[in-house]
Parts: sequence; structure tokens; C-alpha cells
Amino acid sequence: MKKIPADKSKWPDELKRSYDYYDPRFDFYYDIKIKCKKCSHEFVWSAEGQKYETEVLKKAWNDRSLCSLCFKRYNLLKESLRRYKIMWLEESENSKSQAVYLKNWLECIREYKKYTNKYDSGMESHLTKLVGKT
Ligand SMILES: [Zn+2]
Repeated sequence: MKKIPADKSKWPDELKRSYDYYDPRFDFYYDIKIKCKKCSHEFVWSAEGQKYETEVLKKAWNDRSLCSLCFKRYNLLKESLRRYKIMWLEESENSKSQAVYLKNWLECIREYKKYTNKYDSGMESHLTKLVGKT
């Protein structure tokens, strides 16, 4: 297992204000073994990766629970959901229930749910009703 020193001066501001900043346990990043929440594949979240995310991307609270494959898939789903939402907002009130992508959108939400519990459950039940009617 690898360990590399942290440069706390490059930490994002939220972290600089946290207790972690003074905790000597966080003077280093260590390779961490994690089991992917989605596919159960074990992977190593590397010390370098953590350093990069914290000190370059300035992400304060990293919670890595997906392997890189699942993480990619998750981000693609998230992007698709964003696009469906935009299309939906551009529909008129009448055309909303007729939109051709409703079924695909619903499937996309259902797939996304397998990765996270932070999803739009209101939209899911709304779409389920709309798709059920057709
Ligand atoms: Zn995975």
C-alpha cells in the first residue's frame, strides 16, 4: 500500500476549516481498497487519485464508492437525465404527456437508481403514470 504526503495548503477552503486540517492522520494519502457499491468489484482508490481530486479538483468530501467503470456509467446516466429534463422543460403542457422519450427517460431513472439514492423519485412516479397510460 502506497502513501504520499498531502499538501494541505492546496486543500479546498471547506477542508482547511475542518478538523481534518489539524489531524496528523491526514498528512498523507494512502491507497484505499474499496468494494464497488454497484458491481461489488474490489478496486484500489489510489493515493495519487485522492491527492488529485482534493488538491487539484478541490473536491472537499470525496466519497468514492463506485469502481471506475461504474463511475463512468453513472456519469453518463446523470448527463442523459439532465438532457431529458431540458427537453421536458421545453415541451408545452400538452405535448409533455405525448413526448416520445418518456419511456427511455423512465428506464434511465430506474437504471440510475441502482447507483445512488439521490434521484428524482417524484419524476419517476410521474413518468410511471404517464407511460402506463400509453
Ligand atoms: Zn463497479
